[in-house]
Amino acid sequence: MVINLMDKVISLCKRRGFIFQSSQIYGGLSNTWDYGPYGVELKNNLKAVWWKSNVYERDDVFGMDSAILMHPKVWEASGHLQNFFDLKSDCKSCRRRFKVADLKDDKSKCPECGGILTEARPFNLMFKTHQGPLEEEGNEIYLRPETAQGMFVNFLNILDTKHPKLPFGLAQIGKAFRNEITPGNFTFRTREFEQMEIEYFVNPEDADRKLEEWIENRFQWYINLGIKKENLRKRPHSKEELAHYAKACSDIEYNFPFGWSELEGIANRTDFDIKQHAEISGRDLRYFDDVKKERFYPYIIEPSGGVDRSVLAFLVDAYTEEEVKGDTRIVLRLNKRLAPIKMAVLPLLKNRPNIVELAKKIAADLKRDFVCVYDDTGAIGKLYRRQDETGTMYCITVDLQSLDDKQVTVRHRDTMQQERVGIDRLKEYLSDKLH
Ligand code: ATP
Repeated sequence: MVINLMDKVISLCKRRGFIFQSSQIYGGLSNTWDYGPYGVELKNNLKAVWWKSNVYERDDVFGMDSAILMHPKVWEASGHLQNFFDLKSDCKSCRRRFKVADLKDDKSKCPECGGILTEARPFNLMFKTHQGPLEEEGNEIYLRPETAQGMFVNFLNILDTKHPKLPFGLAQIGKAFRNEITPGNFTFRTREFEQMEIEYFVNPEDADRKLEEWIENRFQWYINLGIKKENLRKRPHSKEELAHYAKACSDIEYNFPFGWSELEGIANRTDFDIKQHAEISGRDLRYFDDVKKERFYPYIIEPSGGVDRSVLAFLVDAYTEEEVKGDTRIVLRLNKRLAPIKMAVLPLLKNRPNIVELAKKIAADLKRDFVCVYDDTGAIGKLYRRQDETGTMYCITVDLQSLDDKQVTVRHRDTMQQERVGIDRLKEYLSDKLH
């Protein structure tokens, strides 16, 4: 029953052009996904809302966009070369590979075929490649497994250019890569994904308090964007679970059809990264407090979320089926800020040139201010269904009467209520509703 919901969301994503399998015409690259016309809009909207709340609406967080490729020393300093491992075991009979942490009972037996598993061996999750034309030792370079390090290595640049006072943060959204042993659950765990991360530098004595503030802030962000409260929870990490750099961490988890799973982690990374980079680079990365006249390493609070996981959670949460006059209506009840398309203009009769002409004119005008589509490729009932499935907030129908009274019918996605609105006030009406 619950798995069914996941299947329905995956099917809708494919059917309506949200998410496709990568390289599908070649049989697909497993666990890798491409965002189609609606998916990219949803993803861009999510990133824009995150950027607005974490950069534009604050005075203490600055945006950044650092390169995916970084100096190999970065990964030595960050500990990823030494510590970013998962333990894996291979089945000697069926050759399947397992993440040891996922093996439930007997860690020596294959859960699929009962064969004997090899000893647990560490497996580094970083993708390695070579820079330049020669594939030789010394030219190895890594695809970043987190966007965070790009912000740490720019700490000094920000101090020198913005002269910020603690606490302050850096924010960036970008791709990260991990050679996951067991990717799966659609876009939940993939080897290429996008992160939205903040590195918030604080006075060490404020770190515990700031961690709590960020956990609350980030939890509320998902709720404000429409995630149902009963589907979201905070889960503090046990000491054994903490990453090599963290003193404390809480995950924000979503109740996916496959179980409660992490959407975002908020960690106290202490001064681990900054100290390490100072030591390995030989640069002084301490912050200077000009009131106390002292230099020290700040602590770092890191809210780190996944774009793809959030998109999936919002899709699952928004997917609704309801009975309408004996039919099943599928509707994506996405928050208005996330909805890929805000409005669709639909002519009621597509064989009446003057109706079509007016509808096209209205759509062209609305497109200047909103993400709006025009569609005349079916009967009105079918057109409504299509828009409901992609979460379009408003359907604007132009009919015969519109030619005379200069009014259109505006239908709201969630209530299906309809209202006649004058064409001359349409923009103002929609602006009010959408802002
Ligand atoms: P998990 O325990 O699920 O592997 P993690 O604790 O290793 O995740 P972090 O290192 O805290 O993840 O990364 C921050 C965020 O990046 C996660 O909360 C998640 O949203 C996203 N993320 C991490 N790994 C993946 C992945 N393989 N696929 C998609 N998103 C990911």
